[in-house]
Amino acid sequence: MNYDVIVLGSGPGGYVTAIRASQLGFKVAIIEKENLGGVCLNWGCIPTKALIKSAQVFEYIQHAKEYGINVTEASADFNAVIKRSRDVADGMSKGVQFSMKKNKIDIIDGFGKVKPGKKVEVTAADGKVSSLEADHIIIATGARSRELPNLPQDGKKVIGYRQAMTLAEQPKKLIVVGSGAIGVEFAHFYNAMGTEVTIVEFMPNVVPVEDEDISKQFERSLKKAGINVMTNSSVERIDTSGNGVKAFVKTAKGEEVLEAEAPFASPLVLPRQRAIRKIRSLFFAEYFRISRRFLRQLQLSRNLQSARLGRLLHRRCCLLRHLGSAKPIGANIIPQLI
Ligand SMILES: Cc1cc2nc3c(=O)[nH]c(=O)nc-3n(C[C@H](O)[C@H](O)[C@H](O)COP(=O)(O)OP(=O)(O)OC[C@H]3O[C@@H](n4cnc5c(N)ncnc54)[C@H](O)[C@@H]3O)c2cc1C
Repeated sequence: MNYDVIVLGSGPGGYVTAIRASQLGFKVAIIEKENLGGVCLNWGCIPTKALIKSAQVFEYIQHAKEYGINVTEASADFNAVIKRSRDVADGMSKGVQFSMKKNKIDIIDGFGKVKPGKKVEVTAADGKVSSLEADHIIIATGARSRELPNLPQDGKKVIGYRQAMTLAEQPKKLIVVGSGAIGVEFAHFYNAMGTEVTIVEFMPNVVPVEDEDISKQFERSLKKAGINVMTNSSVERIDTSGNGVKAFVKTAKGEEVLEAEAPFASPLVLPRQRAIRKIRSLFFAEYFRISRRFLRQLQLSRNLQSARLGRLLHRRCCLLRHLGSAKPIGANIIPQLI
């Protein structure tokens, strides 16, 4: 089958691109190996915000009196909260499916692999292989999480973000390893639902990619909410042999042993390369062009007195290297820092 544009991956990067390409008059197909909407709609931004909304409602009810409202009794139904989050995610994914159909974009289910000669080979879930061709192939395969070497995830006692948002039972105690945005979101949610939460962060501040004054204020808020925060600390090893989990934490004052039912390891996120590994050399030349631009962007970051912005721009450049883009990069692509 021939297309003008094939988009590989249907996350926010992919489906928006597919819609725009179709609106511009191209014949478009989108290939997805899992759920339409990608990580963001199915396992990321959307379901976590649904969980946080439930936590917020619960907190409001608990403090209703401060707002002049009398509530006699309130309890959280953990399974119903999880179900609502999954329903919200499913609804959003169906919305993407509707948008694809409305924009006459062909949805191809399966794992896509870019092949030489503008071809994409698609392996469906039943193993059937088909070949597609397009003038333009857009790779929007997102990122995958990388496990911490000393915290191998078994999906039960040491869990990643997917299990953390679909647990069948609410844990009484939870250790969150890493305090990036995803880690603190889960810490906030579980703490609000009544779980005893400890965050272990290797860096001196929580949410370490944010500005220090934000991190400090944020740490105060987490502690005020009742979350135990351990910075400058690292989980060195875990023992899952008993009923729960023991985490051996290296702190500035020596080793501490924490006990919990499930430690949640915040993901380290890596770009997904399996689909593009074989054609990486094609993008090599672009990388050097982008690198020169990167040096110019560093000047911009100095003007903004933010070396961190420079580092983030560098990461963006590295990402764009994979996408083969040579578009100049502006500070506006990193809105959270501006
Ligand atoms: C728990 C969590 C919470 C998050 N919260 C937020 C938030 O609040 N705000 C925010 O801005 N970001 C958030 N993110 C990050 C956000 O999810 C990602 O930035 C976003 O999903 C990236 O979009 P994408 O289109 O690049 O990739 P993805 O959403 O990862 O989509 C890529 C798609 O490509 C598919 N795919 C990959 N390889 C192939 C292949 N070879 N063949 C076919 N299909 C393939 C995948 O199945 C996937 O559906 C969160 C992430 C997580 C994990």
